[in-house]
Amino acid sequence: MTAFKFKVSGPLAPIAEKVRRGERLDREDGVALFKTNDIFTLGYLANQVRDRVHGDKTFYTHTLHVNYSNACVLDCALCAYYRPLDSEEAYTFSVEQMAAQAEAAGKLGVREFHITGGLNPKLPFEYYENMFRGLRAKVPWATIKAFTAVEIDFFSKKFRMTVEEIYRRLGEAGLNCLPGGGAEILVDRVRDIVCKGKISAARWLEVHEIGHRAGFPSNATMLYGHVETLEDRVDHMLKLRGVQDRTQGFLAFVPLSFHAENTAMPDLKPTTGIEDLKVYAVSRLMLDNVPHIKLLWTYVGTKLLQVALDFGVDDVGSTNMEERIVKAAGADHGDRPTRDELMEMIRHAGRTPCEVDSLYREGPVQMAGELVAPSPVVGTECRPVDVAFGDKTGDGVARR
Ligand code: SF4
Repeated sequence: MTAFKFKVSGPLAPIAEKVRRGERLDREDGVALFKTNDIFTLGYLANQVRDRVHGDKTFYTHTLHVNYSNACVLDCALCAYYRPLDSEEAYTFSVEQMAAQAEAAGKLGVREFHITGGLNPKLPFEYYENMFRGLRAKVPWATIKAFTAVEIDFFSKKFRMTVEEIYRRLGEAGLNCLPGGGAEILVDRVRDIVCKGKISAARWLEVHEIGHRAGFPSNATMLYGHVETLEDRVDHMLKLRGVQDRTQGFLAFVPLSFHAENTAMPDLKPTTGIEDLKVYAVSRLMLDNVPHIKLLWTYVGTKLLQVALDFGVDDVGSTNMEERIVKAAGADHGDRPTRDELMEMIRHAGRTPCEVDSLYREGPVQMAGELVAPSPVVGTECRPVDVAFGDKTGDGVARR
């Protein structure tokens, strides 16, 4: 355990003592941390935990986003991405289009596919299976992280299959793990305002828990900075912590600041840098059983991201090729770091860059001792991993 370098006094002293002893923080502690103006002590405490778990290591991924369709039966107030099914602006990628994107990304050494889209009732289940197989055929080493709990629940109802059956079929087609989207704030009073009609908080948690038990780990997001209270944020974290105590299936917690542009709530002010840093630090301190706190630079820009590495964040997200959902809400900071630039930014913050796939497996991917990623990472300080792939042409590689 890292020794504390300075003594914390004032209102945060009892919480600091718990952190020093490695004791779990409670709801009251979480709310007090959000309310403090002592931002440096807050960052110091979060950094103690971050360093205990990860040292200087800072993770990132080389990702192709596959936002396969923006046609959606819902109209969540927070969403700038969706289009009604009959809209001229609605699109759906063909399996061939996605495979071509994957092939191009594979030549750049992409490590993961991050796949999400709208709830499009016109697509058959085979579309999703063929999507996975098409991507996998082009880039067998990349992990497939696909479908929010909202999409999985939609599939279950539309195709009259249990969630377990959906996961079984998708797993056979190549699914590795689940993204964390659709969580917003896991308090139904808030959900009724920002995403009415979306699955309840309890159902979101249930779909993830079923996924974990079926062998598919996941992330969990929190969309903050709209109508939620500080207590709602803490309750969101506590609900995730409860599931994690049972399953250990959450890999990363991903706080996302709300961007109002093009949504049904355009007048909401953006969060401030201090508010964002508080969220990262409180997340690290409250979620004592979740390994990673992940920040997406698209939401805050790379400059605040460097500071966040001292406020509990250990994962800076990815290169984000072809991401559409966040851009639709106006979160475009104009800085689009390449893989080399991401590594440089991490080093400038005094940390050690580690490229990983969706399952946090480090280093260039090898298959049966042979490096297969066509653009191996140069300069990452992590060890190569020898991933237990199946045969080079087979499906279902890189499963956990
Ligand atoms: S957030 Fe998801 S479910 Fe809601 S409208 Fe947008 S795409 Fe559809």
